[in-house]
Amino acid sequence: MKQGVLFIISGPSGTGKGTICNELLKQEKMFLSVSNTTRERRVGEIDGVTYNYVSVEEFERQIDKGGFLEYAKYGSNYYGTPREPVESRLQRGENVLLEIEPQGALKVKQQISDAVMIFIIPPSMKELKKRLEERGRETKEQIDERMEASKWEFSKAAQYNFICVNDKLDECVERVRAIIHDTVKERGLIENLLKENY
Ligand code: 5GP
Repeated sequence: MKQGVLFIISGPSGTGKGTICNELLKQEKMFLSVSNTTRERRVGEIDGVTYNYVSVEEFERQIDKGGFLEYAKYGSNYYGTPREPVESRLQRGENVLLEIEPQGALKVKQQISDAVMIFIIPPSMKELKKRLEERGRETKEQIDERMEASKWEFSKAAQYNFICVNDKLDECVERVRAIIHDTVKERGLIENLLKENY
């Protein structure tokens, strides 16, 4: 049976990964992986939808059991992609979307080499800081930490398959959709070639 394609949307915090994924899901039939995290639930977030909120002990038990496709410590919290839902959806031929930070994205690529890695960048560092400040989710110290972390993250961008600038949201979403459509079409062409009798 035809395997699904794994798409990874990654990049520094504040680049708009979450918004892009939400927009994509309105228009594309894909499975969005729900991550586990040890961070506090924020107002408006829903357990089991935004994240699965777990204790550090529970998270570490899952690490020991090999339950994560990848996990990373980001700031002082763990974030991880549960392995089973992603692998089973891909096997069933569904396309899967991960929205994760770059340490984790690079770990997934090591295991699933045909994953499509898309790195989202802001138009400028100034704009990145402004977006982090305006969304008002983090303290000033956390924003400074995230800006600092972004430098290491940008240094990994060249390892990705695609880099998309999120200047105007709708244009960025269209570019990501085009990447998804082209990839699925190209993978189909290869599969047909391999099935052909000659
Ligand atoms: P936030 O705390 O703002 O929701 O997320 C912090 C960062 O963790 C974001 O860059 C987000 O994309 C990333 N993230 C969310 N889930 C996962 C995951 O399962 N694995 C990894 N490596 N990063 C994640």
